[in-house]
Order: sequence, then structure tokens, then C-alpha cells
Amino acid sequence: REQRSKLPNYPGLERYRLLQKMGDGAFSNVYKATNVVTNEKVAIKVVRKRELNNAQERHLHRDMKPRATEVVFHDYYYLVLELLEGGELFHQIVRLTYFSEQLSRHVIVQVAEGIRYLHEEVGVVHRDIKPENLLFEPIPFIPSKVPKPNLFDEPKEDEGEFIPGVGGGGIGKVKIADFGLSKVVWNEQTMTPCGTVGYTAPEIVKDERYSKSVDMWALGCVLYTMLCGFPPFYDESIRDLTEKVAKGQYTFLSPWWDSISDSAKDLITHLLSVDPNKRYTINQFFEHPWVKDGFEVKSAVS
Ligand code: ADP
Ligand code: MG
Repeated sequence: REQRSKLPNYPGLERYRLLQKMGDGAFSNVYKATNVVTNEKVAIKVVRKRELNNAQERHLHRDMKPRATEVVFHDYYYLVLELLEGGELFHQIVRLTYFSEQLSRHVIVQVAEGIRYLHEEVGVVHRDIKPENLLFEPIPFIPSKVPKPNLFDEPKEDEGEFIPGVGGGGIGKVKIADFGLSKVVWNEQTMTPCGTVGYTAPEIVKDERYSKSVDMWALGCVLYTMLCGFPPFYDESIRDLTEKVAKGQYTFLSPWWDSISDSAKDLITHLLSVDPNKRYTINQFFEHPWVKDGFEVKSAVS
């Protein structure tokens, strides 16, 4: 109750009652809210118009297309979105330390399906795929019979916590959020830029072909992070970090990677290829044995 009184009253948003703040960004606030008429629970992303430049404003319009059901215009943009109460993949990695290969596959395949849809059917590159922008539907609480996997502590007795993908069930559905940096790309079938008739120069076409590969790189980073609990590229100095990324300098650090399959490492190696021409496309991702055979094993069991 107290918390609610601290929530702002946004003009033009009377149809919704804000319940709690869910996310805090540089340009946006995200709230959990109810539609007072239908009682429907939603997420509302509030973006102050004044804080956006033209390019960002255009980006916001794209953000609305794939996911928002309704938009109200004022001093703020309000994006009414499907509420995803399971929280960020980021928090699930922190909570569990790292994911099993099976759970990582379960998650990454869903993210990849989202990317395939964006790349192949919508003609959009997301450009900001990361664990903070990957959101879960509510995750059921089931008392665990399996000790929490943790490299640092001794396995504890039953903590009464659901271990997704380990003790039966699964971690549930994952969805891609935050299209704030997304970009429309060249449509290879019709040879037109999506949406407009083209006077587009060849270097832009080439650029846009490459731009899909940025999502594949990010997919590789997410997969790496899920499997071991830390990102492939890290340095306290931004300059050194940038250099590591530019050179593709990462390792499968021992002991964390010792028990992870060669097949998973092979897939990551193809996603984290510095040369975008050699980097896996979304279709190559789905052809890789770690992804394909994982499905076969699962269906043979059930
Ligand atoms: P930003 O551009 O500030 O990163 P995001 O769209 O990524 O904005 O939203 C910020 C955070 O708000 C997300 O990381 C997530 O925690 C939360 N969030 C965003 N959209 C939703 C949603 N539809 N349901 C639940 N939480 C959300
Ligand atoms: Mg975000």
C-alpha cells in the first residue's frame, strides 16, 4: 500500500492502476499495472518523450510493433505490454549460479526461435539481446528433490526451491523484450527494405545483412553465460573489454567448463566467430547437433 502511494500519476494513463515498479532504465520505467475496466494485468513501459532524440523516437515506434497492444500518446509514451512475471533471465542465472546443458538448451532454443521469427519473417534485428532483456512467464514453485547445482558450496539438503529443468517440469516460456534498439533490415526475398520502396545503396544492403549476425553473436554470449554463470567477455576497464571483444578473446575457463560437452563448446565457437561471414546464421544454429540431438533425446524419453 505504502509502495503504491510512491508511484507517480501519469497523465492519460487513468485506465490503468500502477501496482509496482518492475524495471528501471536510463530512458524508461516499467510498471506492473491493472486495467481498471477489465482487471487485466499488464506491464507498462513509460518513456519520457523529452528524453528521446529523433532516432530513439523512431526506435520506440518499432518497439511498439511486435509486442505492444495499445499505445497512448502524451508527454510520455506508454507501451502497454504483455506482463511477464517470471522476471529476467539475468536473475535466474544469478539465482541458480549456472544452468545445466538441458536447461540452457530449453532457454536458448526459445530465444533463437524468437530471433528466427524476427530475422526471417519480420525483417528486424533486435541488437540488444542480453539476459536482462529476456523475460520469463511465471515460474511455478515446486519443492525440489534435487540439490541446487552450485560449484562453490557443498550441495545443500532440499531447500524447498524449484530447480528448473532439473527436478522435472521446466523453467517455462522465455520471451524477448526491449526492442528499443531494433532495426528494420533488408528483405532478401523481395529485395526491398522492409516497409519502404528502396533507393537503398549496396553498402547499406551489405551492412544490413551483417546486422543480423549481431544477434547471433549475442545469442552465443547468452548461451555461454547460462552454461557457466559468467559472460565470455569481461574486464573492469572498458578499453580492455572492447579490445577483447574485437579480437574475440575468450576461453572456456577451467574448472567451470571442464564438465560441459564439446558439442556445446563447438556451437558457442561458431556463434562467437569474429568474422560475421563465418558466424552461424539462425538456421545454422538450429542445424547444430547440440540443438538438434538435444530435441531427439528429449522426445525419445517422453
Ligand atoms: P530499457 O530500455 O530501460 O532496458 P526494457 O524494456 O528492457 O527497458 O525494460 C526494463 C526492465 O523492465 C526489463 O529488464 C524487465 O526487468 C522489466 N520489464 C520490461 N518489460 C516487461 C514486461 N513486459 N513484463 C515484465 N517485466 C518487464
Ligand atoms: Mg532493457
